[in-house]
Amino acid sequence: MMQSLESEEYYVGNLYQRFPVNIVKGRGCRVWDTNGREYLDCMGGYGVALVGHCNDRVVEAITEQARNLITCHMSVYNETRLRFLKKFNSIAPKSLKKTFFTNSGTESVEAALKFSRKFTGKSGIIALNGGYHGKTFGSLSVTYNEKYRKSFLPLLPDVKFISYSEVESIPEIISRTENKIGTVIIEPIQGETGIIMPPPDFLKSVKEICIANDVVLIFDEIQSGLGRTGKMWAGQHWNVEPDIMCLAKGIAGGVPMGVTTMRPEILDSLKVGEHSSTFAGNPLACAAASATLDALVQDNLVGNSERIGKLFKNGLLELKEKYKIIRDVRGMGLMIGVEMRFDVKNILLDGIKNGILLLYSGRNILRLLPPLVMDEDEVNKSLHLIDVLLQNEEKRRLG
Ligand SMILES: *Cc1c(COP(=O)(O)O)cnc(C)c1O
Repeated sequence: MMQSLESEEYYVGNLYQRFPVNIVKGRGCRVWDTNGREYLDCMGGYGVALVGHCNDRVVEAITEQARNLITCHMSVYNETRLRFLKKFNSIAPKSLKKTFFTNSGTESVEAALKFSRKFTGKSGIIALNGGYHGKTFGSLSVTYNEKYRKSFLPLLPDVKFISYSEVESIPEIISRTENKIGTVIIEPIQGETGIIMPPPDFLKSVKEICIANDVVLIFDEIQSGLGRTGKMWAGQHWNVEPDIMCLAKGIAGGVPMGVTTMRPEILDSLKVGEHSSTFAGNPLACAAASATLDALVQDNLVGNSERIGKLFKNGLLELKEKYKIIRDVRGMGLMIGVEMRFDVKNILLDGIKNGILLLYSGRNILRLLPPLVMDEDEVNKSLHLIDVLLQNEEKRRLG
């Protein structure tokens, strides 16, 4: 791309795969560009636009909080923060009673890894092939993709990656590992890698092994949590509660915020100052997060995610019958992957021309993470547009 003084690239480098669209406005599942053109947003800001762009509840909460107080360090108390914590505790997995505030996904994972290390005193970590947990050094150490890791070695030393089928060998890995395994970290459904579902008994088996060996189980629900999969937590699909859970992405309606929530004894094992963040528990973010939880619960967006997600997935399964270029359709709720036989870049670019924003995973997977406020009309319109894009792609590929 040309690097003129008028292009962002001139200032920000080229770290992101970018698409030629300039967004100025959003509402619900729709966004508009500088020319006033409307797009259906199935990219959902990588899942951040969870409760819809400019959700009324979130806009009101931010506006009101901004008039009163924008910053307030954790070393002093704040009512807005307490209001969020109470609300969050009422929906969090029952045994996870204490929460550390962060500002992003990778920071939630960093905190989880440090807290587990302190609590168990063991440095060994088991992570999953294909897992994605962020790109700061600690999180990157448990992120699988070589493409992200290779320029930054050495990372944390005691990480062992396993495949889903190696679950049976975890006890053996624990017993023979010199730097004792204290932590297992898992995305209940892998997002970045292409909406990969675990085998049916996998999470349950891992949980049992963790209990038997005093190992802390971390669920990274940064992408799958907060109703995305049709239940509040993806772990609920398999009735498994972790010891620590990481959240971020849409938790504050688009305002940067994350949380690491855990069994109280884990957080209580740390002393004053052993971990902290200057922005932690920011009242503006907490106000937005309270409003986001209200939207999820009171507007039943979790139920909507399940219902609309089924419609969307069924429609895509029909398209799979129609187009040979689709290899697989999978996912739960509004976390859906469409694996193609080819690179999807042309489909994404064609999507922009046709008024729909889509997301990719790897080279050949379309990932759909639309806002949970999506309605039937918007699903049908999305399906129609995807149908057009696939027709165009099949013509390009197969003539
Ligand atoms: C997005 C994501 C992260 C990283 O979050 P950032 O806010 O980009 O640091 C970590 N884990 C999962 C599962 C994610 O989807």
